Amino acid sequence: MTGDAERKMQFLYALRSRGVTDKRVLQAMESIDRGPFIRGIFSDRAYEDMPLPIACGQTISQPSIVGLMTQALKISPRDKVLEVGTGSGYQAAVLSRLARRVYTVDRYSRLVREARTLFDEMDLTNITAITADGSFGLPDQAPFDRIIVTAAAEDPPGTLLGQLKTGGIMVVPVGQSDAVQHLIVARKTENGVEYEELRQVRFVPLLEGLGKDT
Ligand code: SAH
Repeated sequence: MTGDAERKMQFLYALRSRGVTDKRVLQAMESIDRGPFIRGIFSDRAYEDMPLPIACGQTISQPSIVGLMTQALKISPRDKVLEVGTGSGYQAAVLSRLARRVYTVDRYSRLVREARTLFDEMDLTNITAITADGSFGLPDQAPFDRIIVTAAAEDPPGTLLGQLKTGGIMVVPVGQSDAVQHLIVARKTENGVEYEELRQVRFVPLLEGLGKDT
């Protein structure tokens, strides 16, 4: 087996062994190369199941966490999805293989610009990346079938829940940035919101306002 094929097998094996079992999610992750989303000295670790530093002091999430969050969203091909926290763009790229349309926002314009370039290069035409404070969601495009937040909020964000359709699902890490956070799945029903706790996680914080590019 070539090095590339072997690395790919190990990558998928790590996902499965950490609970990513949904076939469509595994296929989506197999089809998106994580390599181009990581630049610089860490690029040779792109196929390891670990978070890595990206520009503007942010991080690309661990692949198995990307898989678990995507799986929890139960996306159907007709869904319109909002991601808060574009970062490298990797999570949005994975979502784009499962959903009809993906909107992704980040408070750093540099990250949004770099992610857009990658989406163009990979011909992922159903993603719209926007520089904005995602705490306010994306009122122009609301409501959404699914919402994923990839930065930790101190409480489940009410504004975002307000932009979720009835029957919709939101996945969000909740907790203080320097403490244990919990990955929460919120399902909006006609009788209110049901919450389920998936597991402990560690994400960079959801911050207010736009960031200054570094
Ligand atoms: N999903 C990304 C990883 C995100 S890291 C990936 O696949 O690579 C978290 C991101 O959330 C950071 O890029 C950070 O800038 C962004 N972020 C934090 N607070 C935000 C806010 N209020 N609005 C938009 N983006 C925010």
